[in-house]
Amino acid sequence: MSKYIFVTGGVVSSVGKGITVASIGTILKSRQITVSAQKLDPYLNVDPGTMSPYQHGEVFVTQDGAETDLDLGNYERFIDVNLTAESSVTSGQIYSAVIAKERRGDFLGGTIQVVPHVTTEMKERFRRLAEKSKAEVVIIEVGGTVGDIEGQPFLEAIRQMRNDVGRDNILFVHVTLLPYLNSTQEVKTKPTQHSVNELRRIGIQPDIIVCRSDYPISEGIRDKISLFCDVEQKAVIPLPTVSTIYEVPLVLEEEGLGQIIVDKLKLKPRQPDLKQWQELVNLIKTPREPVNIALVGKYVELRDAYFSVREALQHAVLYHERDIELSWIPSETLENDGDYSVLRSAQGIIIPGGFGVRGIEGMVKAATYARENEIPYLGLCLGMQVMVIEFARHVLGSDEPNSTEFDASTRYPVIDLLPGQKDKKTKGGTMRLGNYPCQLVPGSHAAQAYGQNLVYERHRHRYEFNNQYREQLEKAGMVYSGLSPDEQLVEVCELANHPWMVSCQFHPEFGSRPGRPHPLFRDFIGAAKNVLREGAQPPLPLSSQS
Ligand code: GLN
Repeated sequence: MSKYIFVTGGVVSSVGKGITVASIGTILKSRQITVSAQKLDPYLNVDPGTMSPYQHGEVFVTQDGAETDLDLGNYERFIDVNLTAESSVTSGQIYSAVIAKERRGDFLGGTIQVVPHVTTEMKERFRRLAEKSKAEVVIIEVGGTVGDIEGQPFLEAIRQMRNDVGRDNILFVHVTLLPYLNSTQEVKTKPTQHSVNELRRIGIQPDIIVCRSDYPISEGIRDKISLFCDVEQKAVIPLPTVSTIYEVPLVLEEEGLGQIIVDKLKLKPRQPDLKQWQELVNLIKTPREPVNIALVGKYVELRDAYFSVREALQHAVLYHERDIELSWIPSETLENDGDYSVLRSAQGIIIPGGFGVRGIEGMVKAATYARENEIPYLGLCLGMQVMVIEFARHVLGSDEPNSTEFDASTRYPVIDLLPGQKDKKTKGGTMRLGNYPCQLVPGSHAAQAYGQNLVYERHRHRYEFNNQYREQLEKAGMVYSGLSPDEQLVEVCELANHPWMVSCQFHPEFGSRPGRPHPLFRDFIGAAKNVLREGAQPPLPLSSQS
């Protein structure tokens, strides 16, 4: 039977609860303990798939096609597992399931209530992940902050779990923030005391408190939290702000968190092996020559919207022992007079995924710049569609080619709805989602990067390359280097007369891992690092280098 660690958050949101959960996974896995993770999101949406990136940040896609919270990306990268739909639970899913059961007549005669019907459904989801993953330890993060109205049923469900599974099989970890007061120059514990009181009022006594702080936490502060919150002193774990998220497992291990968890859950004691993790952090902290990459997108004001892209770029530059200098360019700013000056210092251009017409013309301009100046280009999903639109405009000598997503009546619909999408009436969960196979063409940049011919990648799109234009664009130099096995869908395309302009209809960023960069990101950076930088001058094209 799996053991459970429930992680709640107190004081404020965004203190790094997700990274803490992911890091607990890392330190347990470093002891050869198998782990899985789950995120509970208290909002009423069934999944974040229909939410604006401004509201929610990136939508992370699992291999089996669930649209989930970006924390799942951190779990996958830190624990190095491929999670499934069972790892993402929202209040929307829970209430829909309970109401569907009521309509079916499952509870005939009964009054349907939050306790026990909603909480039972929640506990069922915890167990389902445990059974499916067969992990020794399942780590479950309760989204939001203790005290939120929406979060109450989840907290009640996890409270009940202590009796259901027995005290040796469950741990409660509370992650809080210790604010620093400049006037008195001290770190304050009162908000932590209040949030622990709030938890206790519900009936949950935390076993471990992880204290986030921008300043060092003294022994005196640990004593105080231990006394007021009734947690062993050694189980008050300081987590000061660190320069890279990949250092968090090392800090938590150093503070003894791994051993405490092993003791409290009565797990088999083993020496942790965090050597690779330590090497990764050492490398991140070593000064390295940067590669300048321009990320041209629609939601760049909110960097969380491209969380996995940023991480995949980081993994790739580390592989090449380089650093990353990422220029975030709102695509709209490129639209007006074609001022490319912000792109001049870029050694590579990346266009990530997105939806809707805003900013598309700016992305097309960035693709023109990359093509004409032979700057390495990586297009991800929408970024591939933009590359196709740009190339078609160039080949047909017209600015009309477009995607029907952006211009429904275009004369040249080079990107159009996928078959089967036209009659879909609802928006939620109806895209082409999750892993699909892709056959690579030997000799292409894509096949060279992967080093194999058949790959599976995660998708999230409604539109695709329109096959009517295949031949025409191919004659002009477009190479279809990745196709669905039935050859009906273009999955990867690249330009023949360009050093490295490669795009894919899927999202390779979700599969990248620290220490194991995704092949397309790795080779994109490999090409970009060879582009000479000339200050504000346009970089020299690769073809002019000997
Ligand atoms: N909007 C495009 C589509 O639906 C691209 C989607 C994406 O970039 N994830 O096909």
